[in-house]
Amino acid sequence: MPETAAPTPDSLATPLSQAAAVPLPDADALAGRFPLTRSPRPASDDERAQVLSDLHFGSVFTDHMVHTRWTRGEGWSGHQVMPYGDLALSPAAAVLHYGQEVFEGIKAYRHADGSVWTFRPRYNAARLKVSARRLALPELAEEDVVASLVDLVRADEAWVPSGEGESLYLRPFMFASEAFLGVHAADVVDYYVIASPSGAYFTHGLTPISIWVTQDYHRAGRGGTGFAKTGGNYASSLLPQQEAAAKGCDQVCFLDDVTQTNLEELGGMNVMVVDADGTVRTPRLTGTILEGGTRSAIIRLLTDAGRRVVEETISLDGLVQDIRSGKVTEVFACGTAAVVVPLGRLMGRDFDVAITGSEVTREIHDRLTGIQYGRLEDPYGWMYRLV
Ligand SMILES: *Cc1c(COP(=O)(O)O)cnc(C)c1O
Repeated sequence: MPETAAPTPDSLATPLSQAAAVPLPDADALAGRFPLTRSPRPASDDERAQVLSDLHFGSVFTDHMVHTRWTRGEGWSGHQVMPYGDLALSPAAAVLHYGQEVFEGIKAYRHADGSVWTFRPRYNAARLKVSARRLALPELAEEDVVASLVDLVRADEAWVPSGEGESLYLRPFMFASEAFLGVHAADVVDYYVIASPSGAYFTHGLTPISIWVTQDYHRAGRGGTGFAKTGGNYASSLLPQQEAAAKGCDQVCFLDDVTQTNLEELGGMNVMVVDADGTVRTPRLTGTILEGGTRSAIIRLLTDAGRRVVEETISLDGLVQDIRSGKVTEVFACGTAAVVVPLGRLMGRDFDVAITGSEVTREIHDRLTGIQYGRLEDPYGWMYRLV
């Protein structure tokens, strides 16, 4: 029973996309909110060059990190950029027991003229607030979140790579550090940002991935934390991800937990479907789906390019039929880390279908990365200069 498609994509007017559209002060005006204490032992130029010449994802980190702490009563204090290093944490820290944590993922891109930019930072800052609220964590003001990125990237600018498709991946996160085993919203919370130079997700063009649609597990449920970017959602996706790998698939896709028939998203990426008539469809935001900034930007780009974009219920059965009949020509996943990934194969308990198209996927990839890397004009004011 697909619901009627809305004429205008809802995502053009969600609270997150509206928050993201509020202009930010220039980075120069935000800089300095997190004063820098320089690392006594930064990587040497040679060590850094070595790392930057062979980039992967998420395994090496820059010389510094952001930290600030919140306590109930005092609020946030002690904003700083400090040397990167291990944390001293009480074994009783609440996050280790009850998972009270939220995070973000955003990239810094080096443009050809050497300047460094990020993509819609207020979107991520606003989403961190939304996530924090759901996890009963304190909110950090959007401008402070953006300022934390400015100050960290300015301290570690030399770590922003300049190769094709490379970036400095920024990971803001906030967690309950209070040493207390009672179950309550913590009275002490820490916010950090770490940065990791990252290689291109694709080195030889857009390579399609295979998907296992799990009919046994869900990553989120109604009234739960699916719309929040929190570690627990990822924890719940790991076993099904292992199951997907055992079936020979790259990634797992989840269905809704109520009807167990409708497509939701991958463990860390949203999903879009391209019809033969050019319409692009994506599951509506039901509360169990994470509202991706990439999803939101793609909806805007496609809509403005004159394409019909609809957010609707997409049933797995219908999708498999439509792929078989040729009514659906492309399926892709999207998120900050990979930008867009074509899905080449969809497998589940009783189906296994191949998807061969990737024309629209490629078009979106080129347009979005073109804007992010400064090769194409940015008519939306999405890019924010950090350095
Ligand atoms: C982060 C994330 C996405 C993608 O969000 P972007 O803002 O596009 O990076 C999608 N789904 C889940 C579950 C996520 O955690």
